[in-house]
Amino acid sequence: MLRFVLSVGLLGCWAGITCAQETITCVESPTGTSSSLYVGNRAPLTPSPLIKLPVGAVHAEGWIGRYLELQRDGLTGKLGTISDWLDKKDNAWLSIGGKAGWEEVPYWLKGYADLAYLLNDEAMIAETKTWIDAILKSQRPDGFFGPGDPNAESGVDIWPNMLVLFLMQSYYEHSGDPAVIEFMTNYFRWVQNYPEKKFLKTYWENSRAGDMLYSCFLLYNHTGDQFLLEVAEKIHRNTADWMQESNLPNWHNVNIAQCFREPATWWMLSQEDAHRWATYNNFWLIRACFGQMPGGMFASDENSRMGYIDPRQGVETCGMVEQMSSDAMLVRITGDPSWADNCEDVAFNTYPAAFMPDFKALRYLTCPNQVVSDSKNHSPGVQNAGPFMMMNPFSCRCCQHNHSHGWPYYVENLWMATADNGLAAVLYNACSVKAKVTDGTEVSIREATRYPFEEQVTLTISTPKSVAFPLYLRVPAWCDGMEIRINGEVRKCSNVDTPTPVSYVRLERTWNDGDCVEIVMPMTLKLRMWQQNKNCVSLDYGPLTFSLKIAERYEKKSSSQTAIGDSHWQEGVDESLWPSFKIYPDSAWNYGLAIGDNPQAFLDQVKIVRHDWPKDQYPWTVDAAPISLTVQGQKIPEWTLDSYGLCSPIPASPVQTAEPTETLELIPMGAARLRISAFPVTK
Ligand SMILES: [Zn+2]
Repeated sequence: MLRFVLSVGLLGCWAGITCAQETITCVESPTGTSSSLYVGNRAPLTPSPLIKLPVGAVHAEGWIGRYLELQRDGLTGKLGTISDWLDKKDNAWLSIGGKAGWEEVPYWLKGYADLAYLLNDEAMIAETKTWIDAILKSQRPDGFFGPGDPNAESGVDIWPNMLVLFLMQSYYEHSGDPAVIEFMTNYFRWVQNYPEKKFLKTYWENSRAGDMLYSCFLLYNHTGDQFLLEVAEKIHRNTADWMQESNLPNWHNVNIAQCFREPATWWMLSQEDAHRWATYNNFWLIRACFGQMPGGMFASDENSRMGYIDPRQGVETCGMVEQMSSDAMLVRITGDPSWADNCEDVAFNTYPAAFMPDFKALRYLTCPNQVVSDSKNHSPGVQNAGPFMMMNPFSCRCCQHNHSHGWPYYVENLWMATADNGLAAVLYNACSVKAKVTDGTEVSIREATRYPFEEQVTLTISTPKSVAFPLYLRVPAWCDGMEIRINGEVRKCSNVDTPTPVSYVRLERTWNDGDCVEIVMPMTLKLRMWQQNKNCVSLDYGPLTFSLKIAERYEKKSSSQTAIGDSHWQEGVDESLWPSFKIYPDSAWNYGLAIGDNPQAFLDQVKIVRHDWPKDQYPWTVDAAPISLTVQGQKIPEWTLDSYGLCSPIPASPVQTAEPTETLELIPMGAARLRISAFPVTK
């Protein structure tokens, strides 16, 4: 990786204001070793280049703000009233000895709570507190909490407890309630004393204990209690081995999306490069073997299987939200902005298509090439046997509850504090952020943009006084030639001609109230070839990947007949308010792109078409997408549905065809619930 040497450049100043020193450089990672304003890593942990701002510091606007409202009014906000797992009556998370409780309550609550805090919704905050109070109260003298019996001969499964630790951290960020610190300290004392022969012995907890390791370090950063470092070692020692050179402990998509980061988390204490590197190795291992497709994820319709690497394979909604959350954590741990690129890839190209536009139903599996989304059993074409492609409010009890943190965590990580007491725009979206800089001065920055549909981002700074601090702007991997203006004047980095992709531009200067930073990230068309999937291609424009526009026909069904077996309604729910949908194609989907031997000639003919911005601020549907492409393609008649009811495996490119060339419309992949986004090449 390139390492840029910081150089001090003295540039001009702008009219009317005291001339101040201004340093603009392109850097690989934020500089500095320790924030004096936010709690980052405490020695001996590696310094945190970037630090999470407390929940509520970032306020979402634009389409992402609209998305949070849809979550509130849809599945996330209402799940507590329809899912039997969340029924308060006799619930084991509310009363000891109640009905068995596992991951569902904390899965849902950790996203629901953050959504409540982000929207500052009093009723939701109160609802959250009911559950939190009960969990705090459930703590035993030895520190264990929640359902489960730690005295059982075989031990207790503490995977759900790991989720609660995340919930408690958000609650602490929101409230500052010291009970959280005491609760977590007591719990990690229990972990310290729990017999090793019973600790982390079952599948899910053993795979996923990296989550608990992260929470252990966060608590250590707050308290400095030395015993937590010993506990961290005990957790790492008993967690599945995610540091293998050419293998993973298991090939479960959600495990991979959340556990591949365990070694980098452990690296914060071990400081051995091999551990940090193991996380990169895991990321590339799964993508080299199963990720030869657009959308930022990999082929793993629950578990990745040898031979099932076609773009018609999918990933669980749980896998998507865990990947986005992991990416944000890894930006903070490593400072490496490439994790933000993957987060945006999943967030824009895969995740929106996993839900109905009203956020009241979701599907378990979403695939880059998915031409039917129905209730049929498509196994073994995809791994799971059952209606795993239908849009259903009960689409599998994990995704149904775990989806909740996807957008809230994403919003919280749009901006981060830096170790040199500045701020970083890590993920771009419309929002405003309020945070402390330099000497504790609270500034706010309004970020106006329709990204990723447009290439402009405008930042307006509000500050009670002139204040010097570094402002970091992430340069995405796809972005050549980022342009920056401050108060209308072009600015250049002193150490590079143009900002290098996968870096940050660091603007250090004295900022005044009303200062305006305009960013242009020129988007270009790019073809990616997936050689291991028979040389198929996908077409990108900036951070967006494009899919064939397929006419989607929605067929409404009663959810009571179609819920997946392990999901259950609460008593008395009006099920007609929560329908399921099958989606069928009403137009042909079996097209290749007429690229022939000349990709450049193909790209030269692509037209970028802009459409009106949707009035309801929701751009993720076939009809509302504010951008589309017209391209040249040809039908491939032999590419049809196969015996499993899936589009048959993609034909090897180039495909010889005598079919006429047609003009096709492509839309953003995230807006296409039926999609072909990995195309054969025709000749
Ligand atoms: Zn799931």
